[in-house]
Amino acid sequence: MPTMGALHDGHISLVNRSIAENDLTIVSIFVNPTQFNEAADYSNYPRTEKIDQELLLQVNPNVLFMPSAEEMYQNNEELLKINLNGLDSVMEGKFREGHFAGVVTVVDKFFSIIRPNRAYFGLKDFQQLAIIKYMASKRYPEMEIVPCPIIRDHDGLALSSRNQRLNAHDRSVSVLLSKALFNLHNNWGVMPFDKALAESKAVLSDSSIELVYLEVVDAQTLEIQHEYSTSQVVACLAARVGKVRLIDNILLPNV
Ligand code: AMP
Repeated sequence: MPTMGALHDGHISLVNRSIAENDLTIVSIFVNPTQFNEAADYSNYPRTEKIDQELLLQVNPNVLFMPSAEEMYQNNEELLKINLNGLDSVMEGKFREGHFAGVVTVVDKFFSIIRPNRAYFGLKDFQQLAIIKYMASKRYPEMEIVPCPIIRDHDGLALSSRNQRLNAHDRSVSVLLSKALFNLHNNWGVMPFDKALAESKAVLSDSSIELVYLEVVDAQTLEIQHEYSTSQVVACLAARVGKVRLIDNILLPNV
Protein backbone atom coordinates (compact mmCIF):
# COMPACT_ATOMS: atom_id res chain seq x y z
CA MET A 1 0.00 0.00 0.00
CA PRO A 2 1.38 3.36 -1.06
CA THR A 3 1.61 6.20 1.47
CA MET A 4 3.34 9.55 1.72
CA GLY A 5 4.30 8.91 5.36
CA ALA A 6 3.48 10.98 8.46
CA LEU A 7 1.55 7.86 9.31
CA HIS A 8 -1.60 7.88 11.45
CA ASP A 9 -4.30 5.39 12.39
CA GLY A 10 -5.91 5.76 8.94
CA HIS A 11 -2.76 4.40 7.29
CA ILE A 12 -2.32 1.77 9.98
CA SER A 13 -5.87 0.49 9.39
CA LEU A 14 -4.90 -0.21 5.76
CA VAL A 15 -1.69 -1.96 6.82
CA ASN A 16 -3.56 -4.13 9.32
CA ARG A 17 -6.19 -5.04 6.75
CA SER A 18 -3.53 -6.06 4.26
CA ILE A 19 -1.65 -8.10 6.86
CA ALA A 20 -4.91 -9.91 7.76
CA GLU A 21 -5.75 -10.71 4.14
CA ASN A 22 -2.36 -11.47 2.53
CA ASP A 23 0.85 -13.47 3.02
CA LEU A 24 3.09 -10.53 2.24
CA THR A 25 2.45 -6.83 2.89
CA ILE A 26 4.57 -4.08 1.40
CA VAL A 27 4.17 -0.49 2.59
CA SER A 28 5.75 2.35 0.67
CA ILE A 29 6.55 5.80 2.00
CA PHE A 30 7.28 8.30 -0.72
CA VAL A 31 6.36 11.98 -0.80
CA ASN A 32 5.74 12.07 -4.52
CA PRO A 33 6.95 15.40 -5.96
CA THR A 34 4.97 15.11 -9.20
CA GLN A 35 1.56 15.15 -7.51
CA PHE A 36 2.06 18.49 -5.74
CA ASN A 37 0.79 21.47 -7.66
CA GLU A 38 2.16 23.96 -5.10
CA ALA A 39 5.87 23.98 -4.26
CA ALA A 40 5.12 25.17 -0.71
CA ASP A 41 2.72 22.28 -0.11
CA TYR A 42 5.48 19.85 -1.15
CA SER A 43 8.16 21.43 1.01
CA ASN A 44 5.80 21.81 4.01
CA TYR A 45 4.43 18.27 3.75
CA PRO A 46 5.15 16.58 7.10
CA ARG A 47 8.05 14.12 7.02
CA THR A 48 8.36 11.95 10.12
CA GLU A 49 10.31 8.95 8.89
CA LYS A 50 11.73 7.81 12.25
CA ILE A 51 8.31 7.85 13.94
CA ASP A 52 6.76 6.16 10.89
CA GLN A 53 9.27 3.33 11.11
CA GLU A 54 8.57 2.86 14.83
CA LEU A 55 4.82 2.83 14.20
CA LEU A 56 5.22 0.26 11.43
CA LEU A 57 7.38 -1.97 13.64
CA GLN A 58 4.38 -2.25 15.98
CA VAL A 59 2.14 -3.68 13.24
CA ASN A 60 5.00 -5.31 11.36
CA PRO A 61 4.35 -5.43 7.62
CA ASN A 62 6.92 -7.54 5.72
CA VAL A 63 8.57 -4.77 3.71
CA LEU A 64 8.92 -1.00 3.97
CA PHE A 65 9.84 0.53 0.62
CA MET A 66 11.21 4.09 0.94
CA PRO A 67 12.70 5.09 -2.38
CA SER A 68 14.26 8.48 -3.11
CA ALA A 69 12.90 10.80 -5.81
CA GLU A 70 16.05 10.04 -7.87
CA GLU A 71 15.28 6.33 -7.75
CA MET A 72 11.68 6.84 -8.83
CA TYR A 73 12.16 9.45 -11.55
CA GLN A 74 14.72 10.14 -14.23
CA ASN A 75 15.59 13.74 -15.02
CA ASN A 76 12.77 15.49 -16.90
CA GLU A 77 10.80 12.29 -17.13
CA GLU A 78 7.34 12.70 -18.66
CA LEU A 79 4.31 11.76 -16.61
CA LEU A 80 2.18 8.82 -17.64
CA LYS A 81 -0.52 9.98 -20.02
CA ILE A 82 -3.60 7.83 -19.86
CA ASN A 83 -7.23 8.58 -20.45
CA LEU A 84 -9.01 8.60 -17.09
CA ASN A 85 -12.49 8.73 -18.58
CA GLY A 86 -13.22 12.21 -17.19
CA LEU A 87 -12.72 11.04 -13.58
CA ASP A 88 -9.89 13.58 -13.31
CA SER A 89 -11.81 16.54 -14.72
CA VAL A 90 -13.84 17.41 -11.60
CA MET A 91 -13.09 18.40 -7.99
CA GLU A 92 -9.39 17.81 -7.15
CA GLY A 93 -8.66 17.45 -10.87
CA LYS A 94 -10.12 20.87 -11.55
CA PHE A 95 -8.52 22.69 -8.63
CA ARG A 96 -5.14 20.91 -8.54
CA GLU A 97 -3.86 20.86 -12.09
CA GLY A 98 -1.63 17.88 -12.86
CA HIS A 99 -2.24 16.29 -9.46
CA PHE A 100 -3.77 13.05 -10.74
CA ALA A 101 -1.22 12.69 -13.55
CA GLY A 102 1.41 12.62 -10.78
CA VAL A 103 -0.61 10.20 -8.65
CA VAL A 104 -1.27 7.80 -11.51
CA THR A 105 2.38 7.95 -12.63
CA VAL A 106 3.77 7.04 -9.22
CA VAL A 107 1.15 4.39 -8.42
CA ASP A 108 1.71 2.80 -11.83
CA LYS A 109 5.44 2.67 -11.05
CA PHE A 110 4.74 0.97 -7.70
CA PHE A 111 2.36 -1.50 -9.33
CA SER A 112 4.83 -2.39 -12.06
CA ILE A 113 7.77 -2.78 -9.62
CA ILE A 114 5.84 -4.73 -6.96
CA ARG A 115 3.11 -6.47 -8.98
CA PRO A 116 0.82 -6.92 -5.96
CA ASN A 117 -2.27 -9.16 -6.05
CA ARG A 118 -4.11 -6.55 -4.02
CA ALA A 119 -3.58 -2.88 -3.29
CA TYR A 120 -5.25 -1.04 -0.42
CA PHE A 121 -6.52 2.54 -0.72
CA GLY A 122 -8.54 4.72 1.67
CA LEU A 123 -12.00 6.04 0.85
CA LYS A 124 -10.73 9.27 2.42
CA ASP A 125 -9.33 10.11 -1.02
CA PHE A 126 -12.50 9.10 -2.84
CA GLN A 127 -11.60 10.54 -6.24
CA GLN A 128 -8.08 9.10 -6.08
CA LEU A 129 -9.55 5.68 -5.33
CA ALA A 130 -11.96 5.93 -8.29
CA ILE A 131 -9.07 6.91 -10.57
CA ILE A 132 -6.74 4.16 -9.33
CA LYS A 133 -9.55 1.60 -9.73
CA TYR A 134 -10.05 2.75 -13.32
CA MET A 135 -6.32 2.83 -14.11
CA ALA A 136 -5.80 -0.64 -12.60
CA SER A 137 -8.78 -2.09 -14.50
CA LYS A 138 -7.10 -1.00 -17.75
CA ARG A 139 -3.44 -1.69 -16.99
CA TYR A 140 -3.48 -4.39 -14.27
CA PRO A 141 -6.78 -6.23 -14.77
CA GLU A 142 -5.77 -9.11 -12.47
CA MET A 143 -5.15 -6.80 -9.54
CA GLU A 144 -7.75 -6.16 -6.85
CA ILE A 145 -8.08 -2.62 -5.52
CA VAL A 146 -9.43 -2.79 -1.97
CA PRO A 147 -11.29 0.30 -0.67
CA CYS A 148 -10.90 0.91 3.08
CA PRO A 149 -13.19 3.03 5.32
CA ILE A 150 -12.31 6.53 6.48
CA ILE A 151 -10.81 6.63 9.98
CA ARG A 152 -11.80 9.74 11.94
CA ASP A 153 -10.57 11.45 15.08
CA HIS A 154 -12.83 11.41 18.17
CA ASP A 155 -14.56 14.65 17.07
CA GLY A 156 -15.16 13.49 13.48
CA LEU A 157 -12.21 15.09 11.66
CA ALA A 158 -10.91 12.64 9.05
CA LEU A 159 -7.35 11.66 9.94
CA SER A 160 -4.83 13.18 7.54
CA SER A 161 -1.09 13.77 7.60
CA ARG A 162 -1.89 17.44 6.89
CA ASN A 163 -3.79 17.75 10.20
CA GLN A 164 -0.36 18.00 11.87
CA ARG A 165 0.03 21.41 10.24
CA LEU A 166 -3.13 22.87 11.82
CA ASN A 167 -2.56 25.24 14.73
CA ALA A 168 -4.72 24.75 17.84
CA HIS A 169 -7.38 27.23 16.72
CA ASP A 170 -7.64 25.83 13.18
CA ARG A 171 -7.68 22.27 14.52
CA SER A 172 -10.76 23.10 16.62
CA VAL A 173 -12.47 24.80 13.66
CA SER A 174 -11.68 21.91 11.29
CA VAL A 175 -14.31 19.77 13.02
CA LEU A 176 -16.85 21.76 10.97
CA LEU A 177 -15.82 19.92 7.80
CA SER A 178 -17.11 16.55 8.97
CA LYS A 179 -20.03 18.29 10.72
CA ALA A 180 -21.09 19.77 7.36
CA LEU A 181 -20.96 16.32 5.75
CA PHE A 182 -22.85 14.62 8.60
CA ASN A 183 -25.43 17.43 8.38
CA LEU A 184 -25.88 16.74 4.66
CA HIS A 185 -26.19 13.01 5.35
CA ASN A 186 -28.94 13.68 7.92
CA ASN A 187 -30.86 16.03 5.63
CA TRP A 188 -30.43 13.86 2.54
CA GLY A 189 -33.78 13.05 0.96
CA VAL A 190 -35.55 14.89 3.79
CA MET A 191 -35.41 18.40 2.28
CA PRO A 192 -35.03 19.71 -1.28
CA PHE A 193 -31.59 19.05 -2.85
CA ASP A 194 -30.49 22.71 -3.01
CA LYS A 195 -31.64 23.41 0.55
CA ALA A 196 -29.78 20.38 1.92
CA LEU A 197 -26.62 21.56 0.18
CA ALA A 198 -27.07 25.17 1.33
CA GLU A 199 -27.60 24.07 4.97
CA SER A 200 -24.47 21.99 4.82
CA LYS A 201 -22.44 24.89 3.41
CA ALA A 202 -23.82 27.14 6.17
CA VAL A 203 -22.16 24.85 8.73
CA LEU A 204 -18.83 25.90 7.19
CA SER A 205 -19.31 29.62 7.72
CA ASP A 206 -16.31 30.47 9.84
CA SER A 207 -13.72 33.12 9.06
CA SER A 208 -10.91 30.52 9.18
CA ILE A 209 -12.56 28.27 6.59
CA GLU A 210 -12.41 28.87 2.87
CA LEU A 211 -14.56 26.33 1.06
CA VAL A 212 -13.01 25.25 -2.24
CA TYR A 213 -15.88 22.98 -3.27
CA LEU A 214 -18.67 20.87 -1.88
CA GLU A 215 -20.09 18.61 -4.58
CA VAL A 216 -22.44 15.68 -4.66
CA VAL A 217 -21.16 13.27 -7.30
CA ASP A 218 -22.09 9.89 -8.71
CA ALA A 219 -19.95 7.36 -6.82
CA GLN A 220 -18.95 5.54 -10.05
CA THR A 221 -18.62 8.24 -12.70
CA LEU A 222 -17.96 11.23 -10.37
CA GLU A 223 -20.42 13.21 -12.45
CA ILE A 224 -21.64 16.25 -10.49
CA GLN A 225 -25.28 15.95 -9.41
CA HIS A 226 -27.74 18.86 -9.38
CA GLU A 227 -30.78 17.01 -8.12
CA TYR A 228 -31.62 13.81 -6.28
CA SER A 229 -30.91 10.65 -8.24
CA THR A 230 -31.41 6.96 -7.57
CA SER A 231 -27.74 6.07 -8.09
CA GLN A 232 -25.21 5.86 -5.25
CA VAL A 233 -23.85 9.34 -4.61
CA VAL A 234 -21.11 10.76 -2.42
CA ALA A 235 -20.57 14.26 -1.07
CA CYS A 236 -16.98 15.47 -1.42
CA LEU A 237 -15.49 18.66 -0.07
CA ALA A 238 -12.21 20.51 -0.07
CA ALA A 239 -11.54 23.49 2.17
CA ARG A 240 -8.66 25.55 3.40
CA VAL A 241 -8.58 25.80 7.16
CA GLY A 242 -6.06 28.52 7.85
CA LYS A 243 -3.14 27.58 5.59
CA VAL A 244 -3.97 23.89 5.34
CA ARG A 245 -6.01 22.36 2.54
CA LEU A 246 -8.13 19.43 3.70
CA ILE A 247 -10.52 17.05 1.92
CA ASP A 248 -13.27 14.79 3.23
CA ASN A 249 -16.31 12.95 1.91
CA ILE A 250 -19.32 10.89 2.92
CA LEU A 251 -21.45 8.33 1.09
CA LEU A 252 -25.05 9.55 1.06
CA PRO A 253 -28.06 7.28 1.69
CA ASN A 254 -30.11 6.05 -1.24
CA VAL A 255 -33.26 8.08 -1.80
P1 AMP B 1 -1.43 9.44 1.89
O1 AMP B 1 -0.26 9.14 2.76
O2 AMP B 1 -2.21 10.64 2.30
O3 AMP B 1 -1.08 9.43 0.42
O4 AMP B 1 -2.44 8.21 2.09
C1 AMP B 1 -2.05 6.90 1.85
C2 AMP B 1 -3.27 6.02 1.85
O5 AMP B 1 -3.90 6.09 3.12
C3 AMP B 1 -4.31 6.46 0.81
O6 AMP B 1 -4.91 5.32 0.22
C4 AMP B 1 -5.31 7.22 1.65
O7 AMP B 1 -6.61 7.24 1.12
C5 AMP B 1 -5.27 6.43 2.95
N1 AMP B 1 -5.76 7.25 4.06
C6 AMP B 1 -5.32 8.49 4.41
N2 AMP B 1 -6.05 8.97 5.45
C7 AMP B 1 -6.96 8.02 5.74
C8 AMP B 1 -8.02 7.93 6.71
N3 AMP B 1 -8.29 8.91 7.56
N4 AMP B 1 -8.78 6.80 6.71
C9 AMP B 1 -8.53 5.80 5.83
N5 AMP B 1 -7.56 5.83 4.91
C10 AMP B 1 -6.79 6.92 4.86
